[in-house]
Amino acid sequence: MSYPTNRQIADLLNRIAGLLEIKGENPFKIRAYRRAAEQIAHHGQELAELWQSGDDLRRLEGVGQAIADKLDELFRTGRLEFWERLTAEVPESLLEVLEIPEVGPALARTMWQELGLTTVAGVQAAAEQGKLRTLPRMGKKKEARILAGIRAMARRQTGRFHLGQAWPLARQVLAVLGDLPQVVRVETAGSLRRMRDTIGDLDFLAATDHPAAVMEVFVRLPDVAEVLGSGETKTSVRFKNGLQADLRCVPPARWGTALQYFTGSKSHNVKIRELAQRQGYSLNEYALTREQDGKPFLFDTEAALYEFLGLAWIPPHLREDWGEIEAARSGALPAGLSVADIRGEVHCHSTWSDGRNTIEEMARAALARGYEYLVITDHSRSLGVANGLSVERLRQQSREIEAVQARVPGIRLWQGAEVEVKADGSLDYPDDVLAGLDFVVASVHTGLRQDRETLTRRALAAIQNPHVKVLAHPTGRLLTDRPGGDFDMEAVFQAAARTGTLLEINASPYRLDLPDVLVRRAIAAGVKLIINCDAHGVEDFDNLQFGVATANRGWAAAEQVANTLPLAEFEAQMGLVQK
Ligand SMILES: [Zn+2]
Ligand SMILES: [Zn+2]
Repeated sequence: MSYPTNRQIADLLNRIAGLLEIKGENPFKIRAYRRAAEQIAHHGQELAELWQSGDDLRRLEGVGQAIADKLDELFRTGRLEFWERLTAEVPESLLEVLEIPEVGPALARTMWQELGLTTVAGVQAAAEQGKLRTLPRMGKKKEARILAGIRAMARRQTGRFHLGQAWPLARQVLAVLGDLPQVVRVETAGSLRRMRDTIGDLDFLAATDHPAAVMEVFVRLPDVAEVLGSGETKTSVRFKNGLQADLRCVPPARWGTALQYFTGSKSHNVKIRELAQRQGYSLNEYALTREQDGKPFLFDTEAALYEFLGLAWIPPHLREDWGEIEAARSGALPAGLSVADIRGEVHCHSTWSDGRNTIEEMARAALARGYEYLVITDHSRSLGVANGLSVERLRQQSREIEAVQARVPGIRLWQGAEVEVKADGSLDYPDDVLAGLDFVVASVHTGLRQDRETLTRRALAAIQNPHVKVLAHPTGRLLTDRPGGDFDMEAVFQAAARTGTLLEINASPYRLDLPDVLVRRAIAAGVKLIINCDAHGVEDFDNLQFGVATANRGWAAAEQVANTLPLAEFEAQMGLVQK
């Protein structure tokens, strides 16, 4: 058994103090916890060692009887009952709410008790909807300051944006610049073009002989909040949502070299430069130069540059130095998937749980995208926050799906459920209910902070459950917010490969889970995948491109992704009942 370190103990005591403060406890008591935390954090010797050698912990400065008893319990049992009771009463996530500038314990308590807000995301949504201003001593101005504080916090924490923020903005900019008569070509470069899961800042590249005119339009875009710098061929701005962007203008004849250079990644480009050097050339963003006589070679397309170096053109999403250069030389680049390859989805929500659209609206939207099948998977009963379905409501929903199927015959509908994997690894519906569903998607939403062994055991139990066809968002990460659970993913892959359970690539830009690197490892382990938008509304189906990009970044091929199968084959492979 490993004992908590002084740092961990101090952290726990500070968290206790924070929750007691929100609860409105006696300030002396709160100060005692803070003082003990401070002393313990800076104590020269590990308390666990002192405790093991039988020292009286009360001899430490700031540690009285009450705290000494708690430390003793913590070392003996690895748990603290007081903490468990406290967090059952006051949501632990309120501690993050306390981190918001302008939010003190009293306000955190009011927002929690009056408006039911327990998370930073919840407070942000309420502020955006103008709900905070109704609280006592609040008003519009303070609400705006809180919102600004939350946004600044998000930037500080990650400095990165997810694709759902970066992509639509980039499309708008490209549309405006692309319409200019002076612009021959315009593209995003950098990590957005490579479709990385998060984006640091945006890079735009324009092929033009009139850079001043193009940059003039760029800085006047309505979303630009601030111009950070401007030169002859490059301008930097900050958009209103906090994203920064560079626009670089290059002569059309140098487009290919520049686009290749600014797309990156750095490690891909290092390899490409080395390759050029071995052939007697130096390469930078302007040109390829023959070292022997200094003769420049210009490339107006990337393909021409790659070809000159003896390589097939490498799609941007592969440019990470994960073996793509070798593959491009030997003609072994993966064919890749396109959005049109996806024939249906098996994970989406409706107004029956926490979705925004009815089953019929979801079905019609899926049909309009050309889907051949859709499984409705609302949340299971224990997920109260998402209005999970009781067994009774599940039965009612089955009749509703049949009725919608009759009205929307162009797409095959099935009833599934996104079923909670409970803390002990069991599922949230009994076996006979699971057996009555066409399609069971299992999810670990709760307890993601459990230790590796417990979490892995839960995932494996779900994978091995004969009713479960898909394990959704397998790591549970939320991009720019929290890392995934500490699962033993190799064990998960081996189990899924053995049982044939599909692992999801969740296409939501908040998740992209499995992540690209794990897609690659899953494939190597022989796992079959499935890409789902986890749509909570009809517009979420647009996120499919992010899921497909993630699959491509992980070198997935169509035959490894189950929902590239047309309806009849999908039905057969999934053992679905013909209706
Ligand atoms: Zn989920
Ligand atoms: Zn879901």
